[in-house]
Amino acid sequence: MSARVYRTTGIIIKRHKFGEADRLLTIFTADCGKVRAIAKGAMRPRSKLGGNVELLTHSQLVLARGRNLDIVTQAQALDIFLPMRDSLELMSCGFYLAEMVDNFTEENVEDRDMFGLFLDTLRGLSETGDGERIVRYFELRLLGHLGYSPQLQKCANCNNTLQPETNYYNPAQGGVLCRECGYPDMSASTISVNALKVLRLWQRSDVDTASRVKLNAELTREIKGILRYNVRYVLEKQLKSIEWMDRLANGNITLEAPLSK
Ligand SMILES: [Zn+2]
Repeated sequence: MSARVYRTTGIIIKRHKFGEADRLLTIFTADCGKVRAIAKGAMRPRSKLGGNVELLTHSQLVLARGRNLDIVTQAQALDIFLPMRDSLELMSCGFYLAEMVDNFTEENVEDRDMFGLFLDTLRGLSETGDGERIVRYFELRLLGHLGYSPQLQKCANCNNTLQPETNYYNPAQGGVLCRECGYPDMSASTISVNALKVLRLWQRSDVDTASRVKLNAELTREIKGILRYNVRYVLEKQLKSIEWMDRLANGNITLEAPLSK
C-alpha cells in the first residue's frame, strides 16, 4: 500500500450530494481526525460503497489522499447502530452528536479520545435507547475534553466549598457558584443539589454508568437547560439539529433530517 493510500475506521458525520452520483462525506476517523472525502458513485443503486457510507455508520475505510479531497476507495460497515436507526428520536440525538463533533473538531487532527467518546456514545444510544441521558452525558464529557470542564466541586468564583443547597451555574465563570457569588450574577442560572450530584457523577463515569442514573422529568429538564447553556456558551451559536431534536421530542415529527442533502 503506497503512502497515498491509508486505512482507518471512521464514523460518517455529514454527507452531501456531489455531482451526479457521488457523495461528499465528512468522516470522523480514529486515526486522522476529521476528514473530507468523496465516495464516487455512492448514490448509484448497486454501489458497493453506498450502504457502507451512510450517515452515522461506523466503517472500516480505505482512502486515497487527493490534492483537495480524499477519495474513499473501499468501505465496510462495522456497526450501523440498528436500534438507533429504527427510532427517529434516537436518530435525531445521533445527528445532534454528529453536529457537535463536526463543530468542535478540526480537519486532519488526530483525536482518539474524542473518537472513543463519540463511538461509545453512539453505542450507548443504540443499546439503552435512552437519548436524553446519553446526550447530556456526551455534552458534559465533550466540554471536559475541550478543556471547558465545569467546576463542580467548589465555587468557581470564591473557591469556597459548596453547601448542599440550591447553588448557581454560570459557564462564563467556569461552573457552579456558591449562593453569595451566584445570587447577584444576573447571567447565572440556579442548580439544585440533585442536578449537581448527577453532573459530578457523570464527570467521572463511563457511558454505561451514566445511563443507569435515574432522573425524573424535572431533573431531566434542569440538567438539559444547564448543559445546553454551557455548550452554547462555548460554541457561541445554536446548533441546527437542536430544533429538530426538540420538535421530535415534542411529538412534532418530520422525516427531513438536517444533515443530509
Ligand atoms: Zn463563591
